[in-house]
Amino acid sequence: MDSSRRKFLQIAAGGIVAAGGLVGLAQGHADLPRPPGALKEDAFLSRCQRCMRCVDACQPGALHIGHLGDGIANIGTPVLDIDKCIQCMDCMRACPSGALVKVSKNELRMGVAVIDEKLCLTYRKKRRCKTCADACREFKAITVEKKGYPFPKVNAEKCTGCGACVRRCPEKDNHAIWLDLSQATRYDPPQDRMLARLESRTEAPNPILTPREWIARRVETLAKTYGLSK
Ligand code: SF4
Ligand code: SF4
Ligand code: SF4
Repeated sequence: MDSSRRKFLQIAAGGIVAAGGLVGLAQGHADLPRPPGALKEDAFLSRCQRCMRCVDACQPGALHIGHLGDGIANIGTPVLDIDKCIQCMDCMRACPSGALVKVSKNELRMGVAVIDEKLCLTYRKKRRCKTCADACREFKAITVEKKGYPFPKVNAEKCTGCGACVRRCPEKDNHAIWLDLSQATRYDPPQDRMLARLESRTEAPNPILTPREWIARRVETLAKTYGLSK
């Protein structure tokens, strides 16, 4: 192949990769973790007003604002850090658009806990540990089969993905128990108009911010998003 032809093919391939990158950037990541109660992704993106009320309502700082790296479609939308979420539901109560539907805590499924039997202390017979089962008192989603050792088992039907078991596991850094976020439930928008209005009713309005406070809040959140502040 002569050098001018090779050069042409290299430029064409570069153009295809760049175009693919731009399309990907425009579409964004389709699997970003969203706040509890989020509609299925397409409906969520079309309803979310990018008002950031949910981000402001989230006291533990479990939500950050989607940025360019998340894709153009996701800019300004809330993205969840599940490790910080305490399922207080303040975000869904603050959402004015129905992008986050009001579901009860028991109906939530933000993921499903999975025990890795190769890494769990009990399955490895290193220790009679049932810390995860004790951590799940609220939902009783982890039962213990006593066969000499107290083998913990997750009942996926009952697990809400709250992560309490993961946080308490002494082997969490080794991923003996982890949350499978691919099993998170996303919701269909309500078909009934009355229900849709109820879903979009803000139950816990955030304090009204002055423009100056609003800008300061945005700068603070963006700084956190980009790791410029603690
Ligand atoms: S449920 Fe509470 S902690 Fe979790 S994202 Fe919503 S506001 Fe934040
Ligand atoms: S409060 Fe609702 S509409 Fe506003 S950014 Fe959050 S999800 Fe979107
Ligand atoms: S994630 Fe929450 S509900 Fe699920 S098993 Fe762990 S503690 Fe129970």
